[in-house]
Amino acid sequence: MKIAFIGLGNMGAPMALNLHKAGHEVAGFDLSEDACKRLGEEGLRIAGSAQDVVRGAEVVISMLPASQHVESLYFGNGQPGLLNQLPAGTLVIDCSTIAAATARKVAEGATKRQIACIDAPVSGGTGGAIAGSLTFMVGGTAGDLERARPLLEKMGQNIFHAGEAGAGQTAKICNNMLLGILMIGTSEALALGVANGLDPKVLSEIMRRSSGGNWALEKYNPLPGVMENAPASKKYMGGFGADLMLKDLGLAQENATAVRAATPLGGLARSLYAAHSLAGGGALDFSSVIRLLQKPQV
Ligand code: NAD
Repeated sequence: MKIAFIGLGNMGAPMALNLHKAGHEVAGFDLSEDACKRLGEEGLRIAGSAQDVVRGAEVVISMLPASQHVESLYFGNGQPGLLNQLPAGTLVIDCSTIAAATARKVAEGATKRQIACIDAPVSGGTGGAIAGSLTFMVGGTAGDLERARPLLEKMGQNIFHAGEAGAGQTAKICNNMLLGILMIGTSEALALGVANGLDPKVLSEIMRRSSGGNWALEKYNPLPGVMENAPASKKYMGGFGADLMLKDLGLAQENATAVRAATPLGGLARSLYAAHSLAGGGALDFSSVIRLLQKPQV
């Protein structure tokens, strides 16, 4: 299948590579020259613009940072957006985490031009993207999901149909609000133990196998040196940026305001990530939020 992949960052690059390795004809584009160069070296055809990369593509996949990037890609920003260019019958799969309202707007714009469109945000982190074991939360029609499924199966293991357009994004921000809260809670508990002289590895293992066990302790320990492959052990580089978590917690709060839901811990988590970003941690992996809770490192 001819696929155009737009956004070759921490997540998009390994996802595009998994489709390429599965034998699909994948062309990629990213605004970052470095990202394009890396994937070009891995054998992907790299195009010079979003308009170029989609020429001849049966499927367009986007993996961009936030709502504004997705909106300007499909509707245009000074120049015509992709929805004006793509032929009827193309399938658009947006995997970025964005506002459900934006996902619905893109889907409506696509439907008017007889372009199929699903929102398919993911969970599983960069490890899951590399391993092809992501979870997809899909919003859109069942028919469009079935068209996308063979491709999603090359990038992920769990594929859920959350509901109609935008529902995938709503599920995703519920999940990420919980993830933000649990990363802060895990960090707080680890920092308390370490301040009392406990060994970080021993304490992590005790809690992992006790009633405090959770995904951060299983796969993504926020203390450097506890897990070799976690971003914390790589100076918090790569992974899931703290500013992206701040964006997701903001989306959850906007949504909660709209439906009058009470999300006190989600609100507090957003404020703590905002403080962490102001203190200079925004570009680091989101597990670096533990630095807010530790004695300054010398
Ligand atoms: P990233 O910042 O590493 O990558 C985003 C890429 O998009 C960058 O390379 C950037 O240059 C490119 N880009 C921005 N605007 C563009 C445009 N108009 N055209 C082409 N390229 C453009 O981010 P990421 O970690 O890969 O995350 C991507 C999305 O996935 C975000 O919405 C994020 O919230 C979500 N997400 C990330 C993770 C994770 O662990 N990193 C996990 C689940 C979901």
